[in-house]
Amino acid sequence: MTTDVQNFVGGEWTGTPSTERRNPADPDEVVSRAVASSASDVDAAVAASAAAQPAWADAPPPARGRVLLEAGELLGRRAAAVAEDLVREEGKTRAEALGEVRRAADILRYFGAQGWRSTGDVLPSAVPDTMVYTRREPLGVVGAITPWNFPIAIPAWKLAPALVSGNAAVWKPAELTPLTAAHFARALEESGLPPGVLNVVNGLGSEAGEAIVANDGVAAISFTGSTRVGLHVYETATRRGARVQLEMGGKNAVVVLDDADVGRAVEAVAAGGFGLTGQACTATSRVFCTPGVAERFVARLSAASAAFSPGDGRADGVRMGPIVSEAQLQKVWGFVDAAMSAGATFACGAEEPEGLFLKPTVVTGVGPSAPIVRDEVFGPVVAVLPVADLDAAVDAVNDSRYGLTAGICTRDLAAAQDFAARARVGVVKVNRPTTGLDLNAPFGGVKDSSTNTFREQGMAALDFFTWSKTVYLGHDPAG
Ligand code: NAD
Repeated sequence: MTTDVQNFVGGEWTGTPSTERRNPADPDEVVSRAVASSASDVDAAVAASAAAQPAWADAPPPARGRVLLEAGELLGRRAAAVAEDLVREEGKTRAEALGEVRRAADILRYFGAQGWRSTGDVLPSAVPDTMVYTRREPLGVVGAITPWNFPIAIPAWKLAPALVSGNAAVWKPAELTPLTAAHFARALEESGLPPGVLNVVNGLGSEAGEAIVANDGVAAISFTGSTRVGLHVYETATRRGARVQLEMGGKNAVVVLDDADVGRAVEAVAAGGFGLTGQACTATSRVFCTPGVAERFVARLSAASAAFSPGDGRADGVRMGPIVSEAQLQKVWGFVDAAMSAGATFACGAEEPEGLFLKPTVVTGVGPSAPIVRDEVFGPVVAVLPVADLDAAVDAVNDSRYGLTAGICTRDLAAAQDFAARARVGVVKVNRPTTGLDLNAPFGGVKDSSTNTFREQGMAALDFFTWSKTVYLGHDPAG
């Protein structure tokens, strides 16, 4: 079944869908057709946002929160149907998609409840009969630009804190996942979000995305995607004085020490490396093993990879779906092919893909400067390298332009704490996969993974979408 996806502007579904999106597991199926928006479509969306924002900001925060809470309930009730479309559009497995849609619903509930919470401080004043307090003010119209790999959870963790804070938003979903995006917007529309508070413009980054970034009416841009595009967005938007939040690529490493529970370490790396088809910014793509564990670890990881044999995400028992697109497959396969040509050894995988299905691949005989070890692959490919000890492992982990997440598998609490302190990343996982985040904990990276200014998720997410005002309230006694 093909669904036409229009833009959502000023509370109306508008525009003529033209761009087809096919099911990566079944290329004969056209899943959706979406509008290819132009700069003037974006201008109209910014104008609609600007018109709607003052009244939305004036609404009592609990009224704003209630809309988000209801949207969370609605999305939760529809989760199975929305997840089915997400699987057909993006390719992840049904269990992964259902988890993601439920996460988006929970994020709406979490930030909806924020409507009832205090957001400022009351401070003592040095001046008699004076009260000092702070208010969080919305920025106005904000832009959100999101990738295809978490097509509903990432929009939720940007848009929910933006909206509950009293902003209006213009959102450009990834061009590969417009149908999933429409489900999110519909949940808010049907929960009473006033027209114009959220506007969705579909289309290419080079057209619609650029137009949002360049529009002077957009006070802030929250972007998640590749480092290449993110740095360009930063340069363009900050030049005109906009606030920018970037979450970008990763090259996430796990250290396995001799004393680790090898079975659990393998589970963590397989889940982090092959789960979500390796298409997560937090995916495990490098593993550093100390000498006493390396051989056992590689043998068991390659045995465990059999459980991730790729297939249609809708089929029972399939734990790994296809790569999202032909272009992405070519990129991933290019890394494997280059490593093969350079004489690398492989413990498993490295087989020619069938359709968009690529077997989980573990590469071992490569040096630290090989592209498959240094660059973001964004597929089910894990490189395992030897290191002498914990110190060498920390150096190896930090020898990267990226700094999103890193993990360590050990039973030694002191080693784990030492690693947590010295790893130059935004998130450290001990004995857990590098993927998987709690929605109430701050998330973000350092170096080329993030702007490293404002964090996403948790209450920290509110900082990006607000500015702080300080009020001195004098109340002189009558007389
Ligand atoms: P991408 O950079 O190609 O696209 C991301 C978004 O930016 C899309 O909506 C795209 O249309 C838009 N875009 C593209 N060119 C643009 C331009 N010139 N101006 C404005 N917008 C533009 O990334 P992708 O392939 O969709 O996603 C994969 C990447 O996202 C990976 O690098 C991954 O690591 C990263 N990612 C990061 C996080 C994180 O939180 N750090 C989370 C998920 C994905």
